[in-house]
Amino acid sequence: MKEIPKRAEADPRYKWKTEDLFATDGDWERGFAAVPADMARFAEYAGSLGESAERLVSALRLSDEVGERFTRLYVYAHLRYYEDTGNQRYKAMADRADAMAAKLAAAESFLSPEIIALGKDTIARFTRESADLTVYAHLLDDLLRRSEHVLDAPREALLARTADLARTPEAVFDILHEADTKFPEIIGEDGSLARLTLGNYTSFMESRDRDVRRRAYEAMYDTIGRFRNTYAGLYQASVTGDNFYAETRGYASALEMALSGDNVPDEVYRNLIAAAGDFLPALHKYMAIRKKALGVDKLEMYDMYVPIVPEADARVSYDEAKRLFLASLEPLGADYAEKTRRGMDGGWIDVYENENKRSGAFQWGAYGCHPFVSLNYEGRVKDMFTLAHEMGHAMHSLLTWGRQPFTYADYPIFLAEVASTVNEALLIERLLADTSDKAKRAYFINYYLEEFRGTLFRQTQFAEFELLAHEAAQNDKPLTADVLSEMYAGLNRKYYGGGAETDARIADEWARIPHFYNAYYVYKYATGYSAAIAIARALLTEGESARARYLEFLAGGSSDYPIAQLARAGVDMSSPEPIRAALSVFAGLVDEMETLI
Ligand SMILES: [Zn+2]
Repeated sequence: MKEIPKRAEADPRYKWKTEDLFATDGDWERGFAAVPADMARFAEYAGSLGESAERLVSALRLSDEVGERFTRLYVYAHLRYYEDTGNQRYKAMADRADAMAAKLAAAESFLSPEIIALGKDTIARFTRESADLTVYAHLLDDLLRRSEHVLDAPREALLARTADLARTPEAVFDILHEADTKFPEIIGEDGSLARLTLGNYTSFMESRDRDVRRRAYEAMYDTIGRFRNTYAGLYQASVTGDNFYAETRGYASALEMALSGDNVPDEVYRNLIAAAGDFLPALHKYMAIRKKALGVDKLEMYDMYVPIVPEADARVSYDEAKRLFLASLEPLGADYAEKTRRGMDGGWIDVYENENKRSGAFQWGAYGCHPFVSLNYEGRVKDMFTLAHEMGHAMHSLLTWGRQPFTYADYPIFLAEVASTVNEALLIERLLADTSDKAKRAYFINYYLEEFRGTLFRQTQFAEFELLAHEAAQNDKPLTADVLSEMYAGLNRKYYGGGAETDARIADEWARIPHFYNAYYVYKYATGYSAAIAIARALLTEGESARARYLEFLAGGSSDYPIAQLARAGVDMSSPEPIRAALSVFAGLVDEMETLI
């Protein structure tokens, strides 16, 4: 076992510079102490936004000013907490910041409903009267476009009181799934007993020992299967809630309501499902290659996650990863690469693990400062891709902050994974271009194929399931465990084809997907991934014009609707073309894999 250092012993050259946010904790305390007075200023605006354009402008500006100052405080407290979650001082600061965030949200909660109540005509008049409102034009449009689905005050009040009831299915799912469902002990790779948990299931699924995978898989689904009727009851209640709110607010379906949050038309969702369906033969072919490479006579669902190519002598030091990653950025131009390099060398990244550091990797930051990236770099090829991924997020933030006002400083979830995926795709393309070694090529291609399967195909399969379930419920079909499992098994057969075994256990997989309680959400992973692959393709084949469009996109933040922003990046999500372009890359990789294996 390697020694994991304490935070105080971690090498400062590889730590992020949180002092760029606040030089000392004392500075933070002084800033934090000023928040209540800031917040109190909202009270004088409540109920008076309609008085004049100036009044509305000052309220929106106040929200931005207070938001910008508070975000910096909030981010600092949490970054310090995440770097050492055992540090009680920063735990307390993060808790105080959370409590204050809730108060701040409450203090300005009147803004949106009051603006919506002003209506389109008043807002249009205000916009003519005051040029200062121009910057808020998109924000206001985004609020007002929902106004036709806002009910009168008594019905809105009633709906607001149902919100807790509506959250019950998800809350009970969490309790059942994470607390009450106890998984058994199984025999692991070293022959000793280990408790199966939701957290370690994936590592069992990646085991090269097939019996270990089988035992974990059977234990997972046999345990879940004992509660399948309860899971079905919860999911049905969740779907019923989605359909109820959609109908009450005058949407044609829960799909239309969910997509309207991003102003995304239904066809984007249906195009995704249709295009993925057209490329299923390529996925089936990949399954046949997987089966052959693993040397099994039947490919079972527990054979899906084990890499079919062992990691080829691949340890990548952090410095080497930085070098390879920077070289892969060539298609984005010298300025982008230089900004990335300066960020990596300038205290954006917290590189290595230390005791009690938050696991995994993430990117975050505060407008007016710079992005921050947390890694737990171990030197696997995977870690190099994580570096590229998180730095993609960081550069999206940096370029957005350089162009946009605070109001549009965040990018929407629909676009969030585009920049990270573009970076990963450019890195893998560069690695493939630079290596003729067959084993290495096979390893990189396998990595890429798995990303496609996990992000594009699997999330689309989920998306299709959600659509089937909501439509069935809308047509008064009861969503019993058997009905849901039959739906799911049908989709599993469709996606994996005859090459993989759809058994009775996998038919219950719907029961253990937490995202299903956040309806019509996972499709964004698949559309974002497709858009990014299409952009990476254009960057590599088209050059300068594609680069200019993409850099423009990265500076967009949330200043326009996601579909419009992608259109300016050259990706028309209202057509199936970007999905097809991405899937063609997948099909090409499958063909190459066939010759390599
Ligand atoms: Zn990401």
